[in-house]
Amino acid sequence: MALHLATLLAAVCAVTHGCPTILSKSQWGGRSPTCRTGMAKPVPYVIIHHTEGSHCTTRSACISQAKSIQNYHMNSNGWCDIGYSFLVGEDGTVYEGRGWTTVGAHAPNYNTNSIGISVMGSFTSKNPNSAAQNAVKSLISCGVSKGYIKSEYILKGHRNVTATDCPGNSFYNLIKTWAKFKA
Ligand SMILES: [Zn+2]
Repeated sequence: MALHLATLLAAVCAVTHGCPTILSKSQWGGRSPTCRTGMAKPVPYVIIHHTEGSHCTTRSACISQAKSIQNYHMNSNGWCDIGYSFLVGEDGTVYEGRGWTTVGAHAPNYNTNSIGISVMGSFTSKNPNSAAQNAVKSLISCGVSKGYIKSEYILKGHRNVTATDCPGNSFYNLIKTWAKFKA
């Protein structure tokens, strides 16, 4: 019994090595897309967003928030799916949106060649907590290690490619200090 558990844990660790906890859309109870366009990998850009909505620091609150955002994008915007590639909560968990290999709806002109990562909350006057910051950085390095993101990728804030305040002044000033940022 103990041996089997150890074997199982070793297998899980091998699969998730170098990556944050990523809940698949089915794991968090998200809706299936109504249409989908595949995206070639590896992509050259990573675009950072905030949702400008509620903050969440527990898995149940973040799941509720993710569902709300997906419903808004699909019901009100009429999109095929949630717009982002991934959502990140201040619970330190990554919630799969369109994922690594599907064209997103988060940054015009960049949707076909970027991964869009949105931290849940509003970060105009404060930064995401360290759990969320670490999850975003880990997600990017995970994408590079798995061949979904170019190793020489360029990191941008949404405001660098669209007329928007996203991802908030505070968070934007923070990502300017992160590796591979280029306005
Ligand atoms: Zn944005």
